[in-house]
Amino acid sequence: MRKRMIAGNWKMNKTYTEGVVLAQELADELAGKTGDVDVVVCPPAVDLKGVGTVIEQKSAPMALGAQNVYWEESGAYTGETAPDMLTNVGCSYCIIGHSERRDYFGETDEDVNKKAKALLAHDIVPISCCGESLEVREAGKHVEFVVDQIRKDTEGLEISDPSRYVIAYEPIWAIGTGKTATADDAQEVCGAIRATLVDVFGEETAAGIRILYGGSAKPDNIAGFLEKEDVDGALVGGASLKADSFAAMVISAAE
Ligand code: PEP
Repeated sequence: MRKRMIAGNWKMNKTYTEGVVLAQELADELAGKTGDVDVVVCPPAVDLKGVGTVIEQKSAPMALGAQNVYWEESGAYTGETAPDMLTNVGCSYCIIGHSERRDYFGETDEDVNKKAKALLAHDIVPISCCGESLEVREAGKHVEFVVDQIRKDTEGLEISDPSRYVIAYEPIWAIGTGKTATADDAQEVCGAIRATLVDVFGEETAAGIRILYGGSAKPDNIAGFLEKEDVDGALVGGASLKADSFAAMVISAAE
């Protein structure tokens, strides 16, 4: 049985001070209400320590995640962050392969694969993103495109505990646009992702890997996605920036 997950991607929003305030509000809103849902917040790198401290001090029912990582251990990689550095500030999750990193910063499937391997080696759970552009969707090639991403991103990964590897299906045309995929659209691709995972890792491991939907997910549409067989939660951008809307999504997932 897969545990549901709601993860908030704050992207490049919230200063250190604002991030601490949001974490405090979330801790208050979520206390005693998360049920059997894994909640993750992924603030900007400079906010990680502050948000982690709030989580610890308030025993908040949420885990800390980063938005990016580099695969090397240390050294001359200006601007990058190593897995150990994330662990040291309390991160147990990390988003990789987000479409914004792929589109604006040239992250490739090969990079995503290296990052996943580095994170798994350091016991940090990757939240590995995939998803097609509008052009690919309109050409009817979305399933094929995402399956190809999954095959490349998972190549050679050794997953001993499937609850510690997460995939987020995020159709690019639905991110931050207010346009959501329908729950059936999400299931079509998430089902194909699950079938690919069976092929790559075998039945048992594939059955334990969580697949999240992301793309304009909000309190009023989350329930529809969660009804689908292969959708195990959501990666939330805009709606994770306000404590009340993010908490409402968590509470809906916990029902
Ligand atoms: C995201 O970019 O991860 C995302 C899902 O954003 P939004 O919810 O704002 O569409």
